[in-house]
Amino acid sequence: MVDDPNPEQASGGRNGATPGRAAWPEAASLEAAALDRLFAGASAEDLIAYAVRDLAPGRAAVVSSFGADSVVLLHLVSRVAPDTPVLFIDTAKHFAETLAYRDTLAERLGLVDIRSVTPQPGRLAALDPDGDLHRRDADLCCRIRKQEPLETALAGFDLWINGRRRDQTADREAMPLVERDGDRLKINPLAGWAASEIAAYRTIHALPRHPLSAKGYLSVGCAPCTSPVADDEDARAGRWRGRDKTECGIHIARNGETVRVLRPVRGRGQDGDGVPGHKS
Ligand code: SF4
Repeated sequence: MVDDPNPEQASGGRNGATPGRAAWPEAASLEAAALDRLFAGASAEDLIAYAVRDLAPGRAAVVSSFGADSVVLLHLVSRVAPDTPVLFIDTAKHFAETLAYRDTLAERLGLVDIRSVTPQPGRLAALDPDGDLHRRDADLCCRIRKQEPLETALAGFDLWINGRRRDQTADREAMPLVERDGDRLKINPLAGWAASEIAAYRTIHALPRHPLSAKGYLSVGCAPCTSPVADDEDARAGRWRGRDKTECGIHIARNGETVRVLRPVRGRGQDGDGVPGHKS
């Protein structure tokens, strides 16, 4: 593994200085919008650290699909708290390469608490007995294979961390760093990262790529609903290709919004451009 080329920047928070833990004594009692403003200048690594150590100690989880870009968030988590529970929604429709990648990253990054979250057998028997519900009703398929299992798995947590970015889709352009998801906080530490920065971080740290990335799969979900993308397409263009669907539903708020808009979108130039210590 390659060390950070700029360790000072890598650990820097607002204005490059690492905020001491005492600087956020009331963080746990703040609302999502206030937290979002508070962490605006923090690095992704600092945000993750505060989330798991200060905001919800022992009550925080990471949710990962072990997809094409997942390794960056997982690497950051492994540097901060490798024993953080990582929830993987195993829909039983994943590529074999994704399952192998999950096991590779667990070993490589030292993640010791990866939990596979599976659909309820009774729901599958009742609503998808032949396993082809994704063809007839993809929203219902995502609901029983992803949304319901995740909601059950998150029952024991007050906060969850995920790897979505603003540059992935138009729906995500206004995504804040911190949002409220019902009774929980939802942390998006990579919100401000660009795809090129994800790639650079992966290279700098010599992190393994998803086996399908080299075959044109720039976003990897379930096998029946994922296809490779052309050079001129968005990374997520291969997800539910040809259908009026861009999200599986686990990131849709209860009011129906894809993300909660807590503040205006910042200009790209305001997000910083350092890679390992990128400001979120
Ligand atoms: S992505 Fe496709 S196969 Fe996977 S849960 Fe959603 S509809 Fe079903």
